[in-house]
Amino acid sequence: MATPTAYFQRRFVPLEDAKIGIMTHAFLYGTACFEGIRGNWNEDDGCICLFRMPEHYQRLRMSCRILRIDLPYTEDELCDLTRELVARSGYAEDVYVRPIAYKSAEVIGPRMHDVQDDFLIFVMPFGPYLDADAGIRCMTSTWRRVDDLGIPARAKVNGLYVNSALAKTEAQENGFDEAIMLDERGHVSEGSGENIFIVRRGALITPSPSDNILEGITRDSVITLARDELGIETIERPIDRSELYVADECFMTGTAAHVTAVVEVDRRPVGDGATGEITRRLQQLYFEAMRGKNGKYAHWVTPVKPQTAADRPAGRQGVRA
Ligand code: PMP
Repeated sequence: MATPTAYFQRRFVPLEDAKIGIMTHAFLYGTACFEGIRGNWNEDDGCICLFRMPEHYQRLRMSCRILRIDLPYTEDELCDLTRELVARSGYAEDVYVRPIAYKSAEVIGPRMHDVQDDFLIFVMPFGPYLDADAGIRCMTSTWRRVDDLGIPARAKVNGLYVNSALAKTEAQENGFDEAIMLDERGHVSEGSGENIFIVRRGALITPSPSDNILEGITRDSVITLARDELGIETIERPIDRSELYVADECFMTGTAAHVTAVVEVDRRPVGDGATGEITRRLQQLYFEAMRGKNGKYAHWVTPVKPQTAADRPAGRQGVRA
């Protein structure tokens, strides 16, 4: 039996008790940044494999620097808290961990300075987000990716996800699975919650960090796997919209999305309209690594054994100061 738990105001509390007030600055103005960390259930070992957790906290720290949010924890402390939260929650299935650093004061007025900050983490069961087996159909969004001069996309800012949500809803209401956003210059940027890659004549190409993307951790994992396992170097350069139409393969990467083939863009099949060969091989390598099933990439994975009822101290279930 799971015990839904959150880390909130420096305590582990039952998830249902982790509540913020309606005047919280982050709620009023989106002044928060977050991470999404997958915990992938490994049935053989009976553990949850947290995927590249330190890298996620390094990125959270980067987002905090951009937003001027104080994060008074070391990377080790953040990882320890997360491990403990996942263990206490007791899930024996795929989970998603959501740490948030946020402007917690109940004050009016958009600004970054002189507003108190806080940090919380929750964890929830989370299965597949996109159809990684069949591949997805995408449309080029009419919404532009927010520019670095507006809200920097390399920071995972809560308020920035209005841009993603507008694009995602437009795509789904038009019968597509996912949006591809262009930036103000018309270059391909990313999906609503995914980075994007194309394959042309055997070359792997992805937008560079200066194309208004989030510097994705799955993106980095795929670049590593392509180089070290397939001998393919990734080229980071601007991609035009029309280049999507002539690509041999296209795929998206993300914590939620894993590695998912894009089989159609704007009603044009990508390649022969099925998952391409390089995509398929990268997908397989990624799936093995993220569940801790490839020893070479064991350093990407933090295993956590879920606590059972018998492991918990009586009385103070799930609560610790
Ligand atoms: N871009 C955006 C806008 C995202 O929200 C995500 C998901 N975090 C990604 C890219 C992929 O990043 P990652 O692989 O680190 O999850």
